[in-house]
Formats: sequence, structure tokens, C-alpha cells
Amino acid sequence: MTAATQGTDPATTTWLDAWTRQEGAERATRAFVAAFGREPDGVWSAPGRVNLIGEHTDYNGGLCLPTALPHRTYVAFARRDDDAVRLASAQRPGDLWTASLGEIGPGTVDGWGAYPAGVAWALADRDGDGDRDRTRDGTPSGFDAAVDSCVPFGAGLSSSAALECAVAVALDDAWGLGLAADRRPELTRACMRAENEVVGAPTGGLDQSASLLCTPGHALLLDFAPDTPDDAFARPRTFEPEALGLTLLVIDTRAEHSLADGQYAERRRTCEDAARRLGVRTLREITPEGLDDALEALADVARRRVRHVVTEVARVEEFVAAADLAGSDQARTSDERATVGARLGALMAASHASLRDDYEVSCAELDTAVEAATAAGAVGARMTGGGFGGSAIALVPRGTEQAVADAVAQAFVDRGHGAPAFLLAPPSGPADRDV
Ligand code: ADP
Ligand code: MG
Repeated sequence: MTAATQGTDPATTTWLDAWTRQEGAERATRAFVAAFGREPDGVWSAPGRVNLIGEHTDYNGGLCLPTALPHRTYVAFARRDDDAVRLASAQRPGDLWTASLGEIGPGTVDGWGAYPAGVAWALADRDGDGDRDRTRDGTPSGFDAAVDSCVPFGAGLSSSAALECAVAVALDDAWGLGLAADRRPELTRACMRAENEVVGAPTGGLDQSASLLCTPGHALLLDFAPDTPDDAFARPRTFEPEALGLTLLVIDTRAEHSLADGQYAERRRTCEDAARRLGVRTLREITPEGLDDALEALADVARRRVRHVVTEVARVEEFVAAADLAGSDQARTSDERATVGARLGALMAASHASLRDDYEVSCAELDTAVEAATAAGAVGARMTGGGFGGSAIALVPRGTEQAVADAVAQAFVDRGHGAPAFLLAPPSGPADRDV
């Protein structure tokens, strides 16, 4: 046994299971009754997300390809007649967050309640004139909400967007806004404003778009090119790993690195400087054919960063093309399906190498997860999210999930990392009402 020969303890493998929608709704309802002593009007929920490929491309005007997790954040919600906003969370026991709707805005609130409260602020004043917009149901008023969630926190799986988007669809119903039916990009923008302006986290729109727009059985191709209109920004694309005999496994490394924020800002700055030097609005405009010429005009570090961005956008396009093929009758035989699976896996491996070597945003735990999963039979694996910790993903042959997870957990023990956790991630549905 590996453990015995290396003198380390055997690993235990922790699975983070998704709740059923009913279980989630019941938990949030119980939290609501306990916090506020009355029944909620209903329960709304929204998923965390995982990005299949297309990393550090959103702020370069590029492409990303997230799917929604079956893991969701549930919000039991009831309107109030006055202006009070009261928030409880099972993940923050005893910490009842309160404010008045009128006082919420950039710089006026903090703590975890800033995420949901920020969404209320952004949705109450959609035209941005500082007055509350009227709706078909009257003027927005205060509310009580209780949260419970099975999306892991701070694991790069977007618990923050899941919280924002669950509150957004609840408020959309409560205030009669009617945006969830066919104007979801407007809800996306409100959630982004909440996170950027009220919480103060400079994230792109990837997380909120995924949580509001992903559909079951699909990945979402997001196009961040500056002039993309709303109706072309997000396109569902077939992604059915089970049709290829594969399962998407998520490895939460549980590693957190304090450098992450400064490093993120520095990568952004390097890319923006390189775009200026190359005379383009965003690096999206550099094509694979034009890459060599562009690289000659740049110094060493910028050269590697730009090479990652340009090749990563091309990998997203190739991944989407291969995944489409999986759903077509060109992949009828098991040999043909294996070829498609191998292609997806090779693109994931190339993405990881590029993020590790050219973009330099991986870390020891992420590299261990990718190497151990691949050695245990994954067709491909890569870090996902911003990097410096968070999660990795692996496409593994169906039926090998436990064996791959055990091998990764053991590799973490052998290399002295803290224990990781594992999630299964069939592409799932968007933010919606539960009961
Ligand atoms: P990620 O989105 O990758 O999980 P973030 O740092 O962006 O990590 O967001 C995590 C923060 O979002 C938490 O620290 C907390 O403030 C807030 N949050 C997310 N989910 C909940 C929840 N269920 N209850 C309370 N706060 C939450
Ligand atoms: Mg987040």
C-alpha cells in the first residue's frame, strides 16, 4: 500500500453531496421559521458553477465555458410592509444581518449581508437615478430572508454568485419585476453591481451569468468580446459527459492563498498593458495566426501571459466543437466516443499546463490534484477558477469516480497537503423558484 510504504496515514475521502431541491427548500424554510417566527412566502435557489475551460479570458474579451453545479444556495423569503431588510444564514449562525432598504448602497454596508442587500439595492434602482423604480406591484419594500447552502464557500465554485442570484430571482417575483422570465441578463447585471459596487469585489460576469443562465445537460458558451449584444452573449452548448461514458469530478483542494487578490490584479494589468502595446482593445483580437508576430513585440513575462490568453480562447472553441460532436451521430461507436473524450481531456491538460507555466496561477495543491487524477485514469484534468487554490476538475471514466478520488486524497496525504473534498457535477439548472 502506498500509505504503508511511505509511512503516512491512509487518506479518507470526503464527498460533498448536493441536496435535493426539496431538502434544500425544507432546510431554508426551517431556518426562516427559526429566525423570524413566521412562514416564508416561498423558497428560491441558485447554483454554484464550475468553468470547464476558458480561464482568465473573461477580462480579456475572450470565451468561457461554465456549467451549473447541482449544489445550490436556497433562500426562504417573505415580503415586509416596511423598509427593513433582515437576513439570516445557516452558515452564519446567530448573525442576524439587518439594515433599512433606503440606506443600502456602495460603501454603506458590509459583512455577508452585503451580497443579498446589494442585489436588492441594484434591483430597486435599475435605471441608476437614485430613486426607487416603481414596478407593476408598487414600490419595492423590505423583506426577511433565510439562507441555507450546500455550495462550498471560497472554493472557487461561486457561493457568492449562488447567494446573489437566489436573492435576485426571489426579489424578481416579490417585486413583480418579470426579469427572470425572459430578461435574465438584466438580473446578471444587478448581481454583478452588487458584488462589484456594494461588496467591492472586482469580479467579471462569469459567475452570475452561469448561475442565472446555465441549463441542464449543457455548458454555457460566454462571449466577453466588448461589443457582444445581450442575445449573443450566452449560448447553451451540448455537454453530456455521460454520453461519452465519462463523469465530471470536482476536487475542492481547500487550499487558500493570501496572494490571490494582488496576483489577479497584476495579471489583469499585464494583459491590459500588452493589449495597448499591440494596438488592440482586448487580447481577444489577437488570433492564433497572428500570435507569433504579437509575441515578438513583447517582453518575456507579457509574452507568456498573452500566449496563455490567445491559446486558451482557441482551446475553448476546440472544446465546444468536440463536445458538439459527442452529441452527434458522428460519435456512434465506442471508439469514436473514446476519441472525443480523449480530445476533451487533451484540451483540459493543455489548459492546465498553460495556466501553470505561462500564466503562473496554479499552486502545489492544484498541480497535485491534476497529476494524481490523471495518473489514476482521468482522461483530462485542470485547475478551474482564478487559481492559487480553489478547485480542479477531472473528466473520469464512469464507475472510476471513487478510485480517482481515493488516489487524489492519498496523493494529498503523501505530499503533506490538507485533505481535499470531492463533488460530482452533472451540468445542472439555473436560478429558479422551488416552492
Ligand atoms: P466563492 O464565491 O468562490 O465561494 P467568495 O469569496 O466570492 O468565494 O464568496 C464567499 C463569501 O460569500 C462568503 O465569505 C460569504 O460572505 C458569502 N456567502 C456565500 N454563501 C453564503 C451563505 N450561504 N451564507 C452567508 N454568506 C455567504
Ligand atoms: Mg465568488
